[in-house]
Amino acid sequence: MEAVDLNTTSTIISQARREGRKALLETEAKAVCMEYAIPVTTFKLAKSEEEAAEFAGQIGFPVVLKIVSPDIIHKSDVGGVMVNLKSAVEVRNAYGKILENAKKYNPAAKIVGVLVQEMAPQSTEVIVGAIKDPQFGQTLMFGLGGIFVELLKDVTFRVAPITQEDAHEMVIKVKAYPLLKGYRNTPPADIDAIINVLLNTSKLVMDYPEIKELDLNPIMAYEKGAKTVDARIILE
Ligand code: ADP
Ligand code: MG
Repeated sequence: MEAVDLNTTSTIISQARREGRKALLETEAKAVCMEYAIPVTTFKLAKSEEEAAEFAGQIGFPVVLKIVSPDIIHKSDVGGVMVNLKSAVEVRNAYGKILENAKKYNPAAKIVGVLVQEMAPQSTEVIVGAIKDPQFGQTLMFGLGGIFVELLKDVTFRVAPITQEDAHEMVIKVKAYPLLKGYRNTPPADIDAIINVLLNTSKLVMDYPEIKELDLNPIMAYEKGAKTVDARIILE
């Protein structure tokens, strides 16, 4: 884990501003999440193949490698995400491949490094989002991952700040809710853990009105707990 000091979020936001960046890097967005007690996958930023292999050993296999670049927002679209790497050799190969893919996509892309993170076990995927509506202000969104949000638009919205009651309603009012309660071979998800992510996200966007968009996508919802696998934060 990168060192996280007090007031991480304001430091991170001012640094992004100084560098003229609107989108926080995944490392930065996840550090912000950590300050707000939103659970994220363990991660370390590697600057070399050797470092990536070393960090993978520390984190424990399997791991995921991802490109970290202010010029690459949708990482998997450019071959910037490699999952389920099971050995140091696989990590070294993936490191090279990810840099190669990034260069192919944009030879001028500034590369900060390659993120090594724990591979979160597959589970029901949920999405927590926030957008700053011009009329209503900070607004939270909840839905289930994949086709539920993208195809079926099965989402709930509430204007922030939200109460525990609101967060609970956001979860139970999506049509796919029965999936979260457990269905056939899908175990029930920890609804309280999801509610906590919603409440903490509400607090975050209320504290920082300069956040224009936030996207925790996906969050793996487990029988006990939840884990954010990807986090995006866009500033005004
Ligand atoms: P992007 O959205 O920028 O393309 P993501 O970080 O969301 O990149 O990675 C793409 C997909 O890879 C995720 O939706 C998820 O399915 C998988 N993934 C990414 N990181 C992890 C992780 N740490 N553990 C498990 N799966 C992951
Ligand atoms: Mg993503």
